[in-house]
Amino acid sequence: MGETFQYWRREIETMPRAELLALQLEKLKMAVGWALRTPFYAERLPRAGINSADDIKTLADLRRIPFTTKQDLRGAFPYGFLGVPREDVVRLHASSGTTGTPTTIYFNRADLSRWSGYVARSIYGTGCTKNDVFQNMITYGLFTGGLGFHAGGEEVGMLVIPSGAGNTARQFRFMQDFGTTVVHATPSFLLHVESIMRAEGVSRESLRLRKAFAGAEPYSEDTRRRIEKLLNIDVYNSYGLSEMNGPGVAFECQAKDGLHLWEDGYIGEIINPDTLDPLDGGESGELVLTCLCREATPILRYRTRDLSGFYTEPCSCGRTHRRLRRITARTDDMLIINGVNLFPSQIEEVIMSMREAGNNYLIVVEKEGMLDRLTVKTEIQAEFFTDDTRPLNALKEKIRKTLQASITINPRVELHESGSLPVSEGKARRVQDLRPKDV
Ligand code: ADP
Ligand code: ZN
Repeated sequence: MGETFQYWRREIETMPRAELLALQLEKLKMAVGWALRTPFYAERLPRAGINSADDIKTLADLRRIPFTTKQDLRGAFPYGFLGVPREDVVRLHASSGTTGTPTTIYFNRADLSRWSGYVARSIYGTGCTKNDVFQNMITYGLFTGGLGFHAGGEEVGMLVIPSGAGNTARQFRFMQDFGTTVVHATPSFLLHVESIMRAEGVSRESLRLRKAFAGAEPYSEDTRRRIEKLLNIDVYNSYGLSEMNGPGVAFECQAKDGLHLWEDGYIGEIINPDTLDPLDGGESGELVLTCLCREATPILRYRTRDLSGFYTEPCSCGRTHRRLRRITARTDDMLIINGVNLFPSQIEEVIMSMREAGNNYLIVVEKEGMLDRLTVKTEIQAEFFTDDTRPLNALKEKIRKTLQASITINPRVELHESGSLPVSEGKARRVQDLRPKDV
C-alpha cells in the first residue's frame, strides 16, 4: 500500500458517530415523507401507525416500519413504489433478475446526482484520482453496474472508457491504447483475465493496470488474493444492489478490510433471517437496508437476503461509517443436499485455497434414486494436468477429501483442464440444480 488515505467528502466520511446518527435521523424522516407519497407505503405505513414523517422521532422508530421484500416490489410493479410525478422521472434501472422477474427502480435528477456522489466517494476512497483511466468492463443497460460506475468515475474526473463486458481482445487493445489503470468487473471474470491475456499474447508489462473493483457477486478472500497475484493489482470489494440504487452502497477503502456502508445514504441493520430479530452485536445475519437518498423510489427496511455482519472496531482509515464483512452468500443461494445446508461459497473457499485448483468451477446437484448427488467440477492449474491418470486420481481424491472435511457432504469431483469450463460475462452461474422441482 504505502498510500495515504484520501477522502472525497472528509467532513461526512469522518463525521463523529453522534453527528452521523443525527444526520441519519433527519434523512430518515425525509425518506419516510417521500415513501408516504408512494401507493405502496401510503397503505403500508399507516397500518403500522406511521402517518407522517413526524411520527419518526428517534432512530429507534425505524423498527416500527415493516420490512419490505422482493415480493413486495414485484407485487407493486410497475409504479407502486413511485413517489414523484411520472414526468419528473429521468431514468429507470432493473435488477438483473438472478432469482426471478426483475424489479424496477426509478430516479429523478437529484436521485441520480446523489447516487453518483456515493459511487465517486467509493472510487476516490480506493486511492483513484482524475489521473486514472477507468475501463468499466461490466454490462451496461438496465444493470446498474454499468451506468452507476460510469457516472461515479466521471464525477471523480477519471477518463472513463465505457467498454462494457465481453469482447476481450478489444478490451486489451483499449487498455494498451489508453493506458487503463483501473477496471471494474465481476470477480469470476477477473479470474480469467490473466489466462485470456496469455492466449491473446498480451504481456503484463504492456499494461498500466494497478487496481480493480470487483463485485456484483460473492467471492472469497482467497479469490481476491488470487486475482491480485495473477494480475499484480489491488482488488477492492464493491457492494450494491439495484433496490439501493446500485454500486456505491458499501465499498472497501485503501485498508481493504471490510466495506464501509455509506451511512449518510443508507441505514444498515442485521437480522436473524428466520426469527427476524435484530442482531446488534456484530453477528452475521441478513442485511436489511433503508435507502435515504432516493426520492422517486423510496425503499425502507429492504430485506436484501445478503448475509453479512458489521465489524465492531473502527477502521484504520479514520472513516466513521461502519464496515460490513465480505458478503459471503445470499439466503436464497442455500442448497439443501440430503438434508444438509450448503452455500456455494463454502465450496469456493475450498477450491480457491488449494493451489492445484484452477480459476473456474461448477456445482451440479442431481437426483439419483432417492438421494441428492453433489458433483463439483473444477478446473486445475495447467502444471498439474497430465495424461497420466495416477497423479490426477490422487489429486481428485485430495480435493474430494478436503471438500468433504469442510462441507460434511461427500461430493463427486471432476477435474477439468484449465480454461475448459464455461465463463460468463456477467454474474457467474456456478450452480446447476438439476433436481426435479416438486420433490
Ligand atoms: P439481482 O438480485 O437480480 O442479482 P442486482 O443486479 O441488483 O440484482 O444485484 C445485487 C445483488 O448482487 C446483491 O443483493 C448481492 O446478492 C450481489 N452482490 C453485489 N455485490 C456483491 C459483493 N461485493 N459481494 C457479494 N455479493 C454481491
Ligand atoms: Zn476504512
